[in-house]
Amino acid sequence: MSTDIAWLAENWAQVRQRVDEACFAAGRDPANVGILPVSKTFGPELIRAMVALGQRRFGENKVQEIRDKSAPLADCHIEWVVIGHLQTNKARDVARLASEVQSLDRLELAEALDRRLQSEGRAIDVLVQVKTSTEPTKHGLPAEQLCDFLNALRDYPSLRVRGLMTVAIQSSDPALVRACFRQLRELRDRATAQGHDLPRLSMGMSADFPLAIAEGATEVRIGTAIFGKRPLSAS
Ligand SMILES: *Cc1c(COP(=O)(O)O)cnc(C)c1O
Repeated sequence: MSTDIAWLAENWAQVRQRVDEACFAAGRDPANVGILPVSKTFGPELIRAMVALGQRRFGENKVQEIRDKSAPLADCHIEWVVIGHLQTNKARDVARLASEVQSLDRLELAEALDRRLQSEGRAIDVLVQVKTSTEPTKHGLPAEQLCDFLNALRDYPSLRVRGLMTVAIQSSDPALVRACFRQLRELRDRATAQGHDLPRLSMGMSADFPLAIAEGATEVRIGTAIFGKRPLSAS
């Protein structure tokens, strides 16, 4: 456990430093770029060690994992952030357990989440996940539907829309990756001009976060660079 903490503290410090360096390179204030640790596939002990390092918010891509981890970590008062594709039938668990959803990508899901949140008497922050990559495996709302979608979300008072999220294309060509991040920022700017308040841009992962920061990310979602490699089947 203590070696876990020392090792995690080292990884965490390195990630924070690399994020800061990317901010300086982009002429941005590091105070404006947060890091969301992504704990998917990692157990409660490692998460507890990150809590000891001062972290409270953790990204998970499966609701079942949040269910499994929230009981043994109940004393840590963690804010669980859903970053993975969500089936509508998980809305009830999300409304009970999550503090935020970054993968909102369709009205059917918004409707189900809002209904469940209302019966829990809660409201949560949400980000709209937009598909900026041509890869068929990537989830997200098609970019051309964003404005109509944002307008429709006004009907769901339990969902506080705070910004946009994306997963960039997986490519060794930085220009292609960066184009995904630029597209998300431009979509945000256009929606802002039409009256939507979208201060947050969640984009960038372990392999590509400097490019996302250069394009205006307000938070990066970091798994591997903090917690180490995941089992292949679970990435
Ligand atoms: C797993 C995951 C991450 C973190 O990925 P790393 O490459 O391990 O940093 C970020 N965002 C989403 C949506 C993920 O599923």
